[in-house]
Amino acid sequence: MFNRLYIHVPFCIEKCHYCAFISRTPQKNEIDEYPALLLRELQLSPHDIRPLASIYFGGGTPSLLKPKQLATLLEGIDTLATIQADAEITLEANPGTVDLNSLKEFRNAGINRISLGIQSFDDRFLNRLGRIHSAQQSRQAFQDIREAGFNNVSIDLIHSLPGQDLDQWRTELQHAIELCPEHISIYGLTVEEGTPFAHIYPSNSPELVDEDISADMFELADELLAAAGFDHYEIANYARPGFSSQHNSGYWKRDGYRGLGVAAHSFMRDEYGVRFSNPDSLTHYQHSVLSGLLERIDEHRLTESDAVAEYLFLGLRLSEGISLTAFEGEFGKSLESVYGSVPSDLISLGLLQHNGSVLSLTGRGMLLSNQVFSRFL
Ligand code: SF4
Repeated sequence: MFNRLYIHVPFCIEKCHYCAFISRTPQKNEIDEYPALLLRELQLSPHDIRPLASIYFGGGTPSLLKPKQLATLLEGIDTLATIQADAEITLEANPGTVDLNSLKEFRNAGINRISLGIQSFDDRFLNRLGRIHSAQQSRQAFQDIREAGFNNVSIDLIHSLPGQDLDQWRTELQHAIELCPEHISIYGLTVEEGTPFAHIYPSNSPELVDEDISADMFELADELLAAAGFDHYEIANYARPGFSSQHNSGYWKRDGYRGLGVAAHSFMRDEYGVRFSNPDSLTHYQHSVLSGLLERIDEHRLTESDAVAEYLFLGLRLSEGISLTAFEGEFGKSLESVYGSVPSDLISLGLLQHNGSVLSLTGRGMLLSNQVFSRFL
């Protein structure tokens, strides 16, 4: 069963130097032919589809799709699966690919939330990252998004960029606050193997930001964004009241979702759940859909203990934490009976907190979340 849809668009104008996502420059007709494959995949999908509460176009660069293609795609999805009247429908947009006209058309097509990949307000860093846009283009794109009528806008920023210091990061945060988005996602840079960044910045590069400074950057974001009225509702996400991402919150609450497109991941809710992904090359994916086979890569049916661990390390990402009563309702046993003293040990270490029947990460626990989650695996 699923009630959320993720659609992966695996095309980008150029590959950013740090990027390990599945995306590449499109060849002729590939973008034009892609939406029909997505609809065919949904049509063939055998699972029980509930009215869709959210749709997320991610990538890659989904804003490379033409507004008309998106409109046709959303109409097709509505016919096959029914989109709820109040569904959140997000489009990730690269500032170098949109203008006022396209944004107006995206809105008319049914998109009601934009996630804008700004990453930095400093052209030196944008060049270093290999982004195709300048800081000025990001500002213009944001202004156009507002003028097109979007009132639910998220921006992405990256900290711990090579050569970045705490003062520069403070300036980035101030610029972000001045724009007044409803939502901000913040990621610390990780240098992924196989990317140009891994060659330019080997692990001993003096330009890489050390862990302590990176932790200071995380805490500075927390401090400045809280003071500006943002709720730190998830480890990497901040929102004004009422604007947390409904789609991503569904991931953390283990709602079922279907991923359409190259390399898209799916999670079907039945018993403890099943996870799988689509082929990660366009040719392979095309064959999988056109043959009607819908090949599943790395299909994994979760056991009860997998589901329990997921419930914790996904649910604890949210500042609202997990309800111990809901946990017992879901699994028919107490958290203590599964993990013994682990939760209370983490409380003593100041990484978890207990409030009534709710267990959540402390501020320090958010910073050291990987250490916390490893205790539940
Ligand atoms: S725009 Fe995003 S997906 Fe595309 S190459 Fe850059 S980081 Fe990767």
